[in-house]
Order: sequence, then structure tokens, then C-alpha cells
Amino acid sequence: MSGPDPIYRLPDLESWSRPGTSLAVLGHPIKHSISPAMHNAALAALARTDPRFADWRYFRFEVHPDDLPRALALLHAKRFRGINLTVPHKVLAFDRVAGIDAAAQPVGAVNTLLFGEEGWRGFNTDGYGLASAIRETLARELYGAHVILLGAGGAARGAGVECLQRGCASLSIGNRTRANLEKLLVTLAPVASRTPVRGFDPSSPPADLPADALVINATSAGLRETDPLPIALGTLPRPAAVFDMIYNPPQTPLLRAATALGVPTANGLSMLVHQGAKALEIWSGIPAAETAPTMAAAAHAALA
Ligand code: NDP
Repeated sequence: MSGPDPIYRLPDLESWSRPGTSLAVLGHPIKHSISPAMHNAALAALARTDPRFADWRYFRFEVHPDDLPRALALLHAKRFRGINLTVPHKVLAFDRVAGIDAAAQPVGAVNTLLFGEEGWRGFNTDGYGLASAIRETLARELYGAHVILLGAGGAARGAGVECLQRGCASLSIGNRTRANLEKLLVTLAPVASRTPVRGFDPSSPPADLPADALVINATSAGLRETDPLPIALGTLPRPAAVFDMIYNPPQTPLLRAATALGVPTANGLSMLVHQGAKALEIWSGIPAAETAPTMAAAAHAALA
């Protein structure tokens, strides 16, 4: 533990005795998370006009996946009001909570837990974050959109469910590893109803993919400057817009390629902000739209 925003661990939790309302994010690793900066800024702003929030604080915990069950039990025993989960805990926690919000059920992953006397209740606010970010940064709706989704990991699963639940016109999913793509297609089939869903190899996209599509990158290709592009945009019919879930670095090679083609782009920072604001709404009852601007300012400052 050191500095103004310490990283806590399991032993700190064993002896936790803070009065007041505590919130936490658990991850492994956790040191790059800017969620504490976003949430504590929003809580401080709320506390200025509403004394109920004066003793609310959000902490970060480094928790190894093997320790997640113990950490969740301790956080419940210490009566934390809410928890955010980040890599690699979102899927692991899904089977370890007392209840799951209906909208999170098909995602198979939770990023937000709410305290209940009988145990944790799990939610997933990433899909809300994605839809809100696309509306805010690209002025587009998932409803009625032809979506080309890249990736088949946890983020892609959440994005695919959200696109289908919001009534996208079609969903085409490209992923490097065929077996992971097939698994995702099977998971999405019950959510799809009559919406056309197909998979493809991003190294040779089919010629009949829709034009004017919304391209969403949910792969981790782009986190490092040396990563390959998740897809060569020139092999697709001209897209309407490109959204990259990656926010650090703020400009990925994919977004640069889209800009060079004159296609509108946005990175994933707004998604991070809106999923955070929705989580705080679940814990506090304060509408996400009220806290999102403060969270956005804090996120920009934390990354600057
Ligand atoms: P996972 O590890 O579950 O999935 C990674 C995905 O990326 C897989 O589809 C994998 O393909 C693909 N991939 C990895 N490396 C490459 C590469 N070099 N070329 C092509 N494809 C590659 O990660 P998540 O789904 O949890 O996260 C994905 C991204 O989304 C991350 O960058 C994460 O930071 C971001 N994210 C952003 C959020 C936000 O709020 N802005 C929220 C959640 C996630 P394969 O199957 O072939 O291995």
C-alpha cells in the first residue's frame, strides 16, 4: 500500500474495518485501472449536494483468480455495497453470485455486483456502455445497424448480445481463431431470433458483407503499437463508422486506417465511462446520465 490511491490485496480485506459505504474494483492486474479515479470523482461531486454520499469511497484490489471466491465472500462479510470486476474475473464471477440480472444472463459474464443480504447480484453494464458510447461519439444507434464485429472473446460476446438485444439489422463476426468464433456463434444463436448472424475469417472477408456497416473492434489487437490490424479495412465495403473498444492508446492502427479513409471513428473511453456510470446507478440509484460527465472528465485527466 502506498500513495493516495493504494492497491489493496486480500490480507487488507481480512482486516478491513472502514465505516461508511465502500465500493471496489477487483482485477489481476489492477494497476492500470482508472475506475477509482472516475468513481471517486463522481462520488465527491455527488457529496457536494447530497450528504448521503459523504462517506462513499471506491477502492482497487489486486486479486488473483484463485482468490476470487475468498475475496467475494470477504467483501460480502465486510458489507461492501458494490463491486466492479475486470480482467480476468468477469466470467469467473458469473457462477459465484447468488443471482444474475436477466439481461446479463446470455452474456455469461458480470462486471458489476450489488450487495444483497442473501449474496451478490450480478449485472453487466458493458453492453449499455457500448451502446451509449456509440450514440455519444458516433451519433449512431445499434438498432437497425449492420454491425461488423471483430473478436470472439468476452468483450465481443457482450457486444454481440447487446447488438442483438437492441435490434441490429445484421451481425457479421470476424475472428482470427475459427474455433473461438464457432463457440461465440453458438452462444449468440438463442439471442439472435430472426436477425441474420454469420461468422467470417478477417484475413479474407466475404465480398457480400454489408456496406455502411458499423465496425466494432472487440479484439485486443491494437493495445500494443506492434500488433497487427484486426482487419484490413480496405477489404471491406466502405463502413459508416469504426468504433474501437481500446482506449489506451487512444489512437490504434485500426482507427488511423479508418481516419485515412475518411471514415468517422471513436475509441473505447466513452464506453468505459458509461459502463462505470451505469454501475454507480445500480449501487446508488443516481441516473447514469448525471454522473457520466464527471466520470469522463476524471478519465481524461487520469489518462493525460
Ligand atoms: P479476450 O482475451 O477475451 O479476447 C481477445 C480477442 O482478441 C479474441 O477474439 C482474440 O482472437 C483477439 N485477438 C487477440 N490478439 C489478436 C491479434 N493479434 N490479432 C487478431 N485478433 C486478436 O479479451 P476481451 O474480450 O476481454 O477484451 C478485448 C478488448 O476489448 C481489449 O482490448 C479490452 O481492453 C477491450 N475492452 C474495452 C472495454 C471498454 O470499456 N472500453 C471493456 C471491455 C474490453 P483469438 O480468438 O483468435 O485469440
